[in-house]
Formats: sequence, structure tokens, C-alpha cells
Amino acid sequence: MIKKHQLPDLPFAFDALEPYMDAKTVEIHYGKHHQGYVDKLNLALEKYPKLFEKSIDELLGDLSKVPEDIRTAVRNAGGGHANHSLFWEILSPEKQSCSGKILSAIKKDFGSFEEFKKQFSDKSLALFGSGYVWLVVDNKTKKLEITCTGNQDTPLSIGKKPILVIDLWEHAYYLKYQNRRAEFVEAWWNLVNWAQVERLFSKS
Ligand code: MN
Repeated sequence: MIKKHQLPDLPFAFDALEPYMDAKTVEIHYGKHHQGYVDKLNLALEKYPKLFEKSIDELLGDLSKVPEDIRTAVRNAGGGHANHSLFWEILSPEKQSCSGKILSAIKKDFGSFEEFKKQFSDKSLALFGSGYVWLVVDNKTKKLEITCTGNQDTPLSIGKKPILVIDLWEHAYYLKYQNRRAEFVEAWWNLVNWAQVERLFSKS
């Protein structure tokens, strides 16, 4: 039996991230944008039902194994699904501070938490067009790195394990912040679920 990809449950209510992320933005971002990527991914895979047996991480981890005629659709819609799944997963209504093993690793690889936050925010403001900024673990060196991707591309496709992400498509912030991306980025830091980032880091 074919198991289609599904929108993951949102781990909080639409209005739970107020005032940093408004309810309407979360509702549309999750229910329309993310759902749209899931639907388009399933539609593309229907031509090759065997591929439903692969996880989204597996599909994106080696796009060369995806048939050429649906590769772009899987890259865009599959990436959109995976990227948004992580984006929701690492948000929390309760303000958390970065601590434990992930804080130690950030200090080791960036010098200090403040320096990491500055580099991550700077890259988020500098990103041109639609895309994401990520904290990733390099699969070979096991070091933390900040990576940027355009459109719906994911670090999974270049041998990196993402553990934190900010969505910088305008749909992520336009209703509340309009063109003020810097305010959105600053607000977003209040929402990071560091306990979940630590869990993802420990598994990497
Ligand atoms: Mn988005």
C-alpha cells in the first residue's frame, strides 16, 4: 500500500507564537504553503510509486537517484516539505535559552554564542531572494556550520545535517513585518526551541 507524504502536526496553536509570529501568518504558512509542497511532492511521486517507500530525507539526500523527469519537482516540492517540517519543529512558544551540548559546540566552532548569533543574523539579512539560513552539522567533519540555500534547496543534498533553520521567504513574515526582515529575524530568536535543536544535534 502506498504511504503518501503528510503534513506533520503543528506542535503548537496558530496563535501560540504571538507576538513574534502572528496567527494568520502561521495558519497560511502551514496550511497553504507547506500543504502545497506536500501535495505537489505526492503528485510528482505518483508516476513512480516505488519512491513512496523512501523517506523525504533519503529522496533529497541523493537527488541523482530520482528519475530525471520528476527530479526538479522533488527538489522543489520535496525540499519545501522537508524544510518547513524542520522550521516548525524547532519553534517553541516558550522562550528558551541555548544550553548544554549544543551551546558547548557553538562556543567551540564559533567562539561564542553571541558571535554565532551575529553571523547567523548577518547571513539572514544578506540572503538575496527567497531561501533559508541554516545551522548544520557537516557529516564528515562533525563541525557546526552556517549555510545558506536558495529557493527550496536543502543542506541534506550536500552532505550536511540541518538542526536549525530560519525561513526567509517573504511569506514567512510579510503580513506582520512587510519589508522589515531585520525585525523578523530579531523576533525569531525568541522562538527557537533549543531543547529540540540539542536533540537533533545529539542524533547527528
Ligand atoms: Mn515558508
